[in-house]
Amino acid sequence: MTYAKTVSKAISGKVWLVGTGPGDPELLTMKAYKVIQEADLILYDNLVSEEIRALFPRGVPALYVGKCKDQHSIRQEDLNALLVKRAYQSKSIARVKGGDPFVFGRGSEEMLMLKAAGVDVEVVPGVTSASGCGTYAGIPLTHRGMATGVTLVTAHTKDDTPPDWDALARLNHTLVFYMGISKAQDIVDGLVGSGSNANTPVAIIENGCRPNQRNIITTLAELSKTAAEAKVKSPALIIVGEVVSLADVLGADAFAPIVESAVASA
Ligand code: SAH
Repeated sequence: MTYAKTVSKAISGKVWLVGTGPGDPELLTMKAYKVIQEADLILYDNLVSEEIRALFPRGVPALYVGKCKDQHSIRQEDLNALLVKRAYQSKSIARVKGGDPFVFGRGSEEMLMLKAAGVDVEVVPGVTSASGCGTYAGIPLTHRGMATGVTLVTAHTKDDTPPDWDALARLNHTLVFYMGISKAQDIVDGLVGSGSNANTPVAIIENGCRPNQRNIITTLAELSKTAAEAKVKSPALIIVGEVVSLADVLGADAFAPIVESAVASA
């Protein structure tokens, strides 16, 4: 497929592909906030939290173009057509997405399509959920002596090809699986089958950076069972690696008793 520009000069309004982070509105960049406030049309999907939607300016039409797994409310091709059509009718469209548009967010696909249609388009990066969810759970993605790097993996590929489990197991990286809950057993089988330690700590973070965030700590061997027992729902992220053990000391509640006793004795 070629995405050569078919129209050399933009002749439309501008589309902003705006990353809004995993949910906490305070994680919005100033640029994301400004673009949203100045838009004359907002198109948002299901990963955009209620708290962020509350910041949409009144009187500006905001259309839901969300996609849920197995329940596509709008096909990507229809969304593309809508974006192009509206771009010609609007001055500034904010296409608002959860996390970062360029991390499993199809931002680049939409950008290629819009550029090919001659539409002026710009991306506003956002806090990706690996970073936001990890931090809010007290889990650093890297830590000296524990992980030499971090790898972001999707458990759902376009043609259903599995990740290269041998390569992932060999890396000694923190592995963060996006869209992984329904593939939890494949993750266990793939990694353990390729030599990862079955006792590696794992965190499942549901609704990260939102008021109802749930952090569930388990092991690789127990991942699938734990996810089923806890009835984990989307959106949820799976973090695999020794860094997960730091949640005990770096998590939000870890130091609460010490602070309380310090206050009591003051
Ligand atoms: N572009 C987004 C990812 C979109 S793919 C980003 O950068 O974060 C959708 C997947 O992201 C979900 O299946 C889930 O694994 C993860 N995700 C997004 N928001 C999340 C949240 N608030 N809490 C937990 N996981 C989240």
